[in-house]
Amino acid sequence: MTSLIDQEINISAPVQAKPLAVILLGPPGAGKGTHAGPLSQKLGLPHISTGDLLREHIHGQTELGRLAKSCMDGGNLVPDDLVLTMLFDRIERSDCAKGYILDGFPRTKPQAEALDSYFGTKVQVAALYFSVPDKLLIERIIGRITCKDCARPYHLHFDPPKLAGICDACNRPLFQRSDDQEDVVRRRLEVYHSQTQPVIDHFASKEGVFKEVLAMGNKEAVFQDTVRLITTL
Ligand code: AMP
Repeated sequence: MTSLIDQEINISAPVQAKPLAVILLGPPGAGKGTHAGPLSQKLGLPHISTGDLLREHIHGQTELGRLAKSCMDGGNLVPDDLVLTMLFDRIERSDCAKGYILDGFPRTKPQAEALDSYFGTKVQVAALYFSVPDKLLIERIIGRITCKDCARPYHLHFDPPKLAGICDACNRPLFQRSDDQEDVVRRRLEVYHSQTQPVIDHFASKEGVFKEVLAMGNKEAVFQDTVRLITTL
């Protein structure tokens, strides 16, 4: 299959006077992580996933990693103050000077408000809401496997690797996230509806920054739609 970034999309990223913050919103399993990598290459902006940053802390056995692990294993959110400090540290780095793609952040109303204050008028925002009906999400998430090395996502049934358990791109082993078990996924969806849905409403009420991507269809079509929506906001 042709990779998403190899395909010809006749729209290039807009010339930005201000840094561009692309915010990928939507429930777990909606495809934010799947599209963030190719989008990062297409727009030349770093992909910043708060879930990945937290998993790095867990792997590195830091104090934050220890605190985050118990929240993540239960399908609950990590406290706002910890996530905010981690996120702002990351976007202050020099590779973020032209902008970045946020995946999995903000996830609560206080996180969205903290981001608004940080942006002020100095950042251009494109908030994209990946909508997928709940009944499809569980099926998508519990079959999800990811490369340990390059983080490329696959699905056991919908998007399997050529060789079972091995990444097509870098030949490294694939793994299933511990919070992708069905009972934890159900809890993550509850948390999404109670704590993250208000964030969607928050961005939807802002003029000229918000678009909905119908994300249940074909992966390539969803990607092309996403690029088109960002560049026409
Ligand atoms: P993700 O990789 O985005 O699915 O996130 C995995 C888990 O990391 C979530 O279920 C939360 O426990 C935690 N997490 C990631 N991003 C955030 C965030 N912005 N706020 C709080 N917790 C988060």
